[in-house]
Amino acid sequence: MTDITATKEAERRLRASEQRFRDYAETASDWFWETGPDHRVTKVSEHSDTITAPAGLIGLTRWDIAPDADLEPEKWQQHRAALDAHIPFRDLVYRSKDRSGQPIYVRTSGKPFFDADGAFLGYRGVCTDVTAAIRANQAEDALRKAQAELAHVTRVTTLGELTASIAHEINQPLAAVIANADACLAWLQRSPPDLQAAGRSVEWIIEDGTRASDVIRRVRALAKRSDTDMAPLDANVVVRESVALVQREMASHAVSVRMELSSALPKIFGDRIQLQQVLINLIMNGIEAMEDVHDRPRELAIRSAASGDGAVLVSVSDCGVGISEQAIDRLFTPFFTTKSTGMGMGLSICRSIIEAHGGRLFAAPNQEHGATFQITLPLHREETS
Ligand code: ADP
Repeated sequence: MTDITATKEAERRLRASEQRFRDYAETASDWFWETGPDHRVTKVSEHSDTITAPAGLIGLTRWDIAPDADLEPEKWQQHRAALDAHIPFRDLVYRSKDRSGQPIYVRTSGKPFFDADGAFLGYRGVCTDVTAAIRANQAEDALRKAQAELAHVTRVTTLGELTASIAHEINQPLAAVIANADACLAWLQRSPPDLQAAGRSVEWIIEDGTRASDVIRRVRALAKRSDTDMAPLDANVVVRESVALVQREMASHAVSVRMELSSALPKIFGDRIQLQQVLINLIMNGIEAMEDVHDRPRELAIRSAASGDGAVLVSVSDCGVGISEQAIDRLFTPFFTTKSTGMGMGLSICRSIIEAHGGRLFAAPNQEHGATFQITLPLHREETS
């Protein structure tokens, strides 16, 4: 007679444990697989027909199934090397097809298993359908790219509108260069030559040449399609550079600019070109808003200040037509425009640029005439500590 109570109890526990794991497995949205020593699928969890797991896998290897096996040879070489070395692998993502033949992305992890003598029998592991997550990432990337493209297009469009101003900005110093070169020649042709005066003319030539090339550098930087380039910045410099590019536009619309820039401004952290794009947009909008103003001076006020709570404020105020109650909520909506030739993208792009900087952009009607657009930008980290 042998007392088998303990054995029976152990068996009961084992069955309960098996049942528990089967329950887990069958309710999981993941599926489980097993491959043999030749890495061909020998088993797929039974419940897989209720989820998106591919069908008809038995007898195939993973690289037989994946259409990306040829496209990403390196990934698969690494994977096969891991399998041949009988080491576990984690989070291999590859393309596959669900049971209706639709492409899906799956993520799989597996570990080798061996018999009692240590002989390699194959791998066991888990597969998850990660299509939704990957598609969401792809959509987000595409959206970001489209936004950057659009920002670039509007920047180039704005530059197109500014061609006359830019040409003027470059022509002025060039004319001065020619005049000073003439003067220099005249000083040299004197007898005896006045070398001191000639030298002074050459210095002016250098100054004007540098001025012209600065304008070209700024225009090229604005027109360039580039990735975001974040750096510590002085907001006042960004304001001055933007104003320099639209100077002529203001002059030809008889708009004067009043700058009230705080001299004690902490640094912000941002992309100089993108912030210039925002300011140029706001300034151009201000100029356009004052086009029909004839009974008061057309003045644009640009202010900068430290807000005291870890931000820099930059505002652009005009005394133009102003913004109606109904329009104020829609200004920043893409394609909202009240202009016959407007695209209605300017403010929406401005807002997305400022928000990407961790800041805010909003508009408010002025008490008397016109509107104020206010930007808040967070300080550069070193300035806050
Ligand atoms: P667009 O200039 O192409 O119309 P925006 O997005 O820059 O596109 O501007 C959208 C609309 O917001 C303008 O059509 C105008 O009605 C209004 N708006 C923008 N700036 C001002 C301003 N400074 N004063 C009054 N209205 C403005």
